[in-house]
Amino acid sequence: MDVLVIGAGAAGLMCAIAAGQRSRRVLVVDHANKVGKKILMSGGGRCNFTNTGATPANYLSANPHFAKSALARYTPADFIALVEKHRIAYHEKELGQLFCDDSSKQIVRMLLDECAAADVTVEANCGVQRVRKTPEGFSVLTARGEVHAESLVVASGGLSIPSMGASGFGYELARQFGHAVLPMRAGLVPLTLSGKHQEHYQDLAGVALPAVETRVGKQSFRAGLLFTHRGISGPAILQISSYWKPGDDLRIDLLPDQQAGEWLIGQRAARPLAELKTVLGDVLPKRLAQRLCEQWFESRPMRQYRDAELGQIGTQLNAWPITASGTEGYRTAEVTLGGVDTDGLSSSTMQSKLVPGLYFIGEVVDVTGWLGGYNFQWAWASGQAAGEAV
Ligand code: FAD
Repeated sequence: MDVLVIGAGAAGLMCAIAAGQRSRRVLVVDHANKVGKKILMSGGGRCNFTNTGATPANYLSANPHFAKSALARYTPADFIALVEKHRIAYHEKELGQLFCDDSSKQIVRMLLDECAAADVTVEANCGVQRVRKTPEGFSVLTARGEVHAESLVVASGGLSIPSMGASGFGYELARQFGHAVLPMRAGLVPLTLSGKHQEHYQDLAGVALPAVETRVGKQSFRAGLLFTHRGISGPAILQISSYWKPGDDLRIDLLPDQQAGEWLIGQRAARPLAELKTVLGDVLPKRLAQRLCEQWFESRPMRQYRDAELGQIGTQLNAWPITASGTEGYRTAEVTLGGVDTDGLSSSTMQSKLVPGLYFIGEVVDVTGWLGGYNFQWAWASGQAAGEAV
């Protein structure tokens, strides 16, 4: 065998296709009973397979330059061309996010058809027990016996959703071969509240705001927010969760389109007899408006508030200081932050700088995208980069 790929997910299949097209003899093994499980469950079953606006700025990594080369050489347009070649209908939902019209099964089918056309063998139900370096390459003990390969590609993904086949295998293998692994944590994940914060907002579970702005330090995202039984979720929270660590100051602008203090002063002039909670209930979900008035500021007729009071209320609304206690963790996280340190890898080929013939691609590497198709684009691009080099 020329190339053994561990992990038949997005990155592993992409790498196998590129290598097979170069007439390399390729075997892909996966311990799960079905290949591409995360692709199947992605995007609510419609797979947000890329983002037309993907740039290196949409990724988190200890080395923000690392992803540039692979992302520049395999672009969203390249993957779209592949999708179109297979006549898969797709649409843009918003903000450059492309989804299948029908089902994410079509993306897995497309990748497996491309594997077949490139003579790649894909084996599910085939875990890896041990990996050894040999003078010729690698000797890998799999559930189907010993496999010898010149190149070994680790595409075993991150730790999120263990029930879908996620394992720490790739990180352990990296350490075995002397690679540094940067601390991992759950990303794109709902945040939890505890104590009085949870008590105050727990019964708002299901209440949604279409557009808030979440902020941690200099990073901010404008998107929807959803209250859950355990805390807060929705795209604006998932996005900021990748930048938030326990103890960080998280602020939420509940009315990002207006300077809320000035707006309230205008409302007082227009509706002096209306109560504050009624006024807020026109721009926020009514149950939230009511709860904010119970927790923070007494609701009185607008004419009873002084400018300074409305200014203070406005400041709270534009920078709601919510204290999250943690995240829901890998059980619901879409991605794993951290992972194989890019310092030990070539950015053009994904090959190890320490062990010739060893490659790391996809989520196992310390490159993590925003929500919105960016993570698959990294899987495709890093898979293609390695597939052209193995
Ligand atoms: P994976 O796709 O996770 O593939 C790794 C494979 O390795 C798996 O098949 C696993 O079974 C196998 N494996 C693990 N350990 C072993 C082992 N020891 N031996 C053999 N095989 C092993 N990203 C987007 O861009 N758009 C989306 O719409 C999107 N939606 C998502 C929805 C959910 C619910 C989740 C959890 C993630 C979503 N993501 C999305 C993120 C995206 O799925 C991942 O970033 C991407 O799948 C990573 O690709 P990968 O090939 O590196 O890893």
